[in-house]
Amino acid sequence: MGGNGFLLAWRFVVLLQLISGVLGWGKEGHYATCKIAEELLTEDAKAVVKHLLPDYAGGDLASLCSWPDEIRFHYHWSAALHYVDTPDFKCNYEYCRDCHDSSGHKDMCVTGAIYNYTRQLEAVGDSYAITNYNLTEALLFLSHFVGDVHQPLHVGFTGDLGGNTVIVHWYRRKTNLHHVWDNMIIDSALKTFYQSDLSQMIQAIQRNITDGWSNDVPSWGDCASNKTVCPDPYASESIKLACKYAYRNATPGSTLTDGYFLSRLPIVEKRLAQAGVRLAAILNRVFASPKQTARE
Ligand SMILES: [Zn+2]
Repeated sequence: MGGNGFLLAWRFVVLLQLISGVLGWGKEGHYATCKIAEELLTEDAKAVVKHLLPDYAGGDLASLCSWPDEIRFHYHWSAALHYVDTPDFKCNYEYCRDCHDSSGHKDMCVTGAIYNYTRQLEAVGDSYAITNYNLTEALLFLSHFVGDVHQPLHVGFTGDLGGNTVIVHWYRRKTNLHHVWDNMIIDSALKTFYQSDLSQMIQAIQRNITDGWSNDVPSWGDCASNKTVCPDPYASESIKLACKYAYRNATPGSTLTDGYFLSRLPIVEKRLAQAGVRLAAILNRVFASPKQTARE
């Protein structure tokens, strides 16, 4: 019994290690997007977020942004919600064609999840929502998935599971391409440029946002026809970036070093920034409904 238990536990750890990285930016990436978002929340949104977070979070959304990765075994159904697979080499995304899980269940993908949890949170003042939804979980899922949809390989090809089966070397370390984009680029950047201090990296990204990264920063959070949420263009951007930067020069067996790292890091930092700015814009709209204001 004890031996079996140990073996089981050990196999679980191995399984966790194999699967970790399949389901999102790493902890640092999610922390960064949520931290960037927090600083851009309106007072109204900040108050609702604080109210929905468990007390132990101390009002800090970023501290719980990786929660959906931690419970993915417990909530089996949620695994498919971290990504969307697109047809191999097409380099485009279409909601109706692509948003389903591997068994074909519609809306079971990252963009479908973003729509779903936004809708739940929009009902934050209703007794129906309070009874039927777990709005704390909805907030954490939404915050996490807005991050995931910005990771280019979370909208990668079906055939290689978003780069998970593309085995490469990251400098001297053997890994897969998906993991490079979830973790390794950020880890190497922290070590090389930010004294291994995530807050320095976040501040550098925030400075770029305020200094006008590109002229379109003010429009990043906008949605066409005044919708509350619009994840489809984010997914389209991701698969285009996956084709242009992630997959390019990263064929199976290749070794990725400075040339790849230094040219892709700006893409990663911009995607973290866009995810943060857009998450804030979504939460600001969701929690600024007249219903919400009236209730307070
Ligand atoms: Zn994820």
